[in-house]
Amino acid sequence: MVQTPTRPPQQSREPYDVVIVGSGAGGGMAAYELTKAGARVALLEAGGHWDNTSSQYSAMLKMPYDSPRRGASTPDRPFGEWDANIGGWQIPGEPYTKAEGTKFDWWRARMLGGRTNHWGRISLRFGPDDFRRKSLDGMGDDWPITYDDLKPWYDEVDRLIGIFGSVEGLPNEPDGIFHAPPAPRYYERRVKEACDRMQITCIPARLSIITKPHNGRAPCHYCGQCNRGCMTNSNFSSPNVLIFPALRTGRLTLVTNAMAREVSTGEDGRATGVHYIDKTTGEDKHIRGKIVVLAASALETSRILMNSKSSRHPQGLANASGVLGKYITDTTGTDVAGFIPSLVDVPRHNADGVGGNHIMMPWWLDNKKLDFPRGYHIEVWGGLGMPTYGFMGGIERYPEGGGYGTDLKQQYRKYWGATVGFSGRGEMIPNDKSFCELDPTVTDKWGIPVLRFHWEWRDTEYLQVKHMQETFRAIIAEMGGEVWSNMPTREQGYGIANGGAIIHELGGARMGASERDSALNSNCQAWDCENLFVADGAPFVSQADKNPTWTIMALSMRTSAYITQQRRAGRL
Ligand SMILES: Cc1cc2nc3c(=O)[nH]c(=O)nc-3n(C[C@H](O)[C@H](O)[C@H](O)COP(=O)(O)OP(=O)(O)OC[C@H]3O[C@@H](n4cnc5c(N)ncnc54)[C@H](O)[C@@H]3O)c2cc1C
Ligand code: SF4
Repeated sequence: MVQTPTRPPQQSREPYDVVIVGSGAGGGMAAYELTKAGARVALLEAGGHWDNTSSQYSAMLKMPYDSPRRGASTPDRPFGEWDANIGGWQIPGEPYTKAEGTKFDWWRARMLGGRTNHWGRISLRFGPDDFRRKSLDGMGDDWPITYDDLKPWYDEVDRLIGIFGSVEGLPNEPDGIFHAPPAPRYYERRVKEACDRMQITCIPARLSIITKPHNGRAPCHYCGQCNRGCMTNSNFSSPNVLIFPALRTGRLTLVTNAMAREVSTGEDGRATGVHYIDKTTGEDKHIRGKIVVLAASALETSRILMNSKSSRHPQGLANASGVLGKYITDTTGTDVAGFIPSLVDVPRHNADGVGGNHIMMPWWLDNKKLDFPRGYHIEVWGGLGMPTYGFMGGIERYPEGGGYGTDLKQQYRKYWGATVGFSGRGEMIPNDKSFCELDPTVTDKWGIPVLRFHWEWRDTEYLQVKHMQETFRAIIAEMGGEVWSNMPTREQGYGIANGGAIIHELGGARMGASERDSALNSNCQAWDCENLFVADGAPFVSQADKNPTWTIMALSMRTSAYITQQRRAGRL
């Protein structure tokens, strides 16, 4: 366990070389890279301390009956009492609002390491096409960088953190530097056989979990409890892999319970530091920095920038073009589950594994033959993992399911592991009806203006999700199974999840080739404030059919290298 790493910020007159806001994937990587390069860094984090390696924080290997609430949700932990996340869809005292008719959910973590403590760890690179979609199909925009610009940084992220997967040579699904993947579980092999028959590409999953010793960390022992916080550091979380090593350089000052509200600027328009609320006292404080890096998560960073108004920046920072808060996206998503009779009563076998799926289906089709643009990948769930409290709700849906006493217990044993589910995760095209802005009347409990969301899915997303539904139903049928639900109708949006619900929100301060229509240049540096950078999902120009975090970290590493180079050249 790392002892009391949080220190009060230095009171010296000398500003920090860099002040970073947010300690998740993006902020943790910036802190690691910049301290390694010799910078004196202060890291402001709105949440409290967290350290997976301590049983004070992690619930790894505990049994459901060890918990007074049997692992059920608490207000702080909507995914269950033992989920390694403090935060959720609603945070007391920190509201957000929605325009009339808007369905949007915003998940926020408030803890050291942010969402990297309980994320799914599916770690995919964007492919070459994902950076130039407008050139390919005329929709959205191209990035100002290419896959080749980011490839060396993806490689470095792979080497530093560790990831398992397999080299496949697929188009637009770049391979990484992989540890060996775990073998598919029994039910995953059945899924793969069905996919092979249907010519749906099915490959080993790619997760940031190490399967051999890596940089002093022990390999995974397949307890399957990644979301509780890994005590052996075998998976990636920002504190254990990035922030604690950064603290060991002696150059990082970590300030937890520090809610940033605004970047301060001088008369010359340059950033001078960050105003923040000390949540333990409610005091409004200021920390000085020669460079400011925002990594509070895409939409929170957009909010801080909008709140950073001054005479030089009347519309907020990085907003000379007026794009701040625009071009926000989330992954499209829908789920289908079904009962597979051939998985009933299978002989008990070793179903151990990582806390996630061992197989995945990357996008495998040609959009020219379809009625929607862009693609999606498929995540799979099911199997004979250790049951958790409340497992197998709806036993009456199984043949002969239900009853009392011994009969009921036998039903649970018989049918456990006979359900298989599929989740689609696809690419949304940015549109001008999906954006966030400051609510003109609502503030949080510290008086900081909050975000108001506007959201609209279009046919480009609805038709893609319809295809997901049809595909998942076809795979279940191919496995000889029975789908649990009816096909959702067009009026039901084909079962599309609300905006934000997949928790891959991106954009809001997009990068671009021209200051006329972007907030940041290709180094994630504000066009209108040269010592201000963004290192989370806000600079993304578009989604992809991949989860975003590996790209957030590759970009943060690249931005940090640029900052180091500029500092050494005396330009920042
Ligand atoms: C259940 C779940 C599963 C997921 N699965 C995957 C997956 O499999 N693959 C994938 O790629 N992505 C996944 N994600 C998304 C992934 O977690 C995010 O993309 C990633 O963590 C974003 O990194 P970030 O640094 O931008 O933000 P975060 O990790 O959220 O970190 C932001 C930090 O900033 C702090 N902060 C916020 N506001 C302020 C403020 N005003 N002042 C100071 N600090 C502030 C927060 O407390 C937080 O610690 C998942 C997310 C969830 C919730
Ligand atoms: S499955 Fe592996 S990585 Fe996940 S918590 Fe268990 S040991 Fe850690």
